[in-house]
Amino acid sequence: MGAPSENPLKGHRRIVVKIGSALLVDREHGLRRKWLTALAEDLAVLAADGAEIVLVSSGAIALGRSVLTMPDRALKLDEAQAAAAVGQIALAGAWTGALAGHGMVAAQVLLTLRDTEGAGNRRAYLNARDTLLQLLARKAVPVVNENDTVATSEIRYGDNDRLAARVATMAGADLLILLSDIDGLYTAPPASNPSATLVKRVKAITPAIEAMAGDAGSHLSRGGMVTKIEAARIATAAGCAMIIASGRENHPLRRLAEDDTCTLFDAKPVKGARKAWISGQLAPAGTIQVDAGAARALSSGKSLLAAGIRDVIGTFHRGDVVALEGPDGALGHGLVAYDSADAERIKGLREEAIADELGGNARSTVVHADNIVLGHSRAGEATRG
Ligand code: GLU
Repeated sequence: MGAPSENPLKGHRRIVVKIGSALLVDREHGLRRKWLTALAEDLAVLAADGAEIVLVSSGAIALGRSVLTMPDRALKLDEAQAAAAVGQIALAGAWTGALAGHGMVAAQVLLTLRDTEGAGNRRAYLNARDTLLQLLARKAVPVVNENDTVATSEIRYGDNDRLAARVATMAGADLLILLSDIDGLYTAPPASNPSATLVKRVKAITPAIEAMAGDAGSHLSRGGMVTKIEAARIATAAGCAMIIASGRENHPLRRLAEDDTCTLFDAKPVKGARKAWISGQLAPAGTIQVDAGAARALSSGKSLLAAGIRDVIGTFHRGDVVALEGPDGALGHGLVAYDSADAERIKGLREEAIADELGGNARSTVVHADNIVLGHSRAGEATRG
């Protein structure tokens, strides 16, 4: 305290800004146009400073449900999908207008988990990434949302926090800002805990940090602090810093540049684009369980050989990302060199036996060390240590 606060937005060349539904949409009055206009002004300042901007905007369901006057209760999936279909048009229109006010071109990008996670789908991931990069090269501002109208539960994020983190890693962004209705991460839920304090800087996402996440969701948006921490894990592992800040007031980015009331998560050193992609997968295609010896070998940076495999779980293809597990639990993620059926046939076998089993010049390396990222938490287990 005391010292002038540093501008956390300075020096970033590609910034993803995620806007929560509760900021954009008011239950009673619909779209908060004044707020949106003010935010567009802040974005124009960043762009004039040379930053490339990608927006991840929620609000389709919230906007659509008010247009369709849907009841004030949790929506069923088909209701939410119908609401999104109506709301997304309004949302895209609102962004087009707000950005055009500053000479910026908005581009609508609707993604599903399939496009960003890859499970057997690196091509879809690369396509989506190329589109984003093409838009940025042409100085358009991608306005991304989940394709809520077609996303069904298996291929659905459901929250835009993690979607934003995946978009940030896809776009090779160096900063992700999650604007929501809370200042940042508190040591305990501030509503019920007057002594809770704001955590200003998170150097690493430890179990203690995860334990602070609690549940800070609001009634309009689905993501709470838990999905924000998971987003931080994805983004920071890919070398992208992340900020959680309040967007309640007008000009939230201008305010952030002047007053650092927020939580800043430091980026981890980058491991290269492929490793970032591997470590960011939320839905690995399957799991390979390895024995203690192989777990030790992986920890010391070695490849996974067939001999060390105990079990192969799920159906995956060569090139998919799989979860790696040792006797003591999750080890990380790896890009696998065999289909699950072949991995199953050669598990526990040494080189010569593999050639006998699969014929030809079959290799014993099932996951090469270059394609392994250790230390990734498994999807859906964000709050466990
Ligand atoms: N994709 C949803 C929407 O646009 C929002 C998801 C979220 O609240 O994170 O309505």
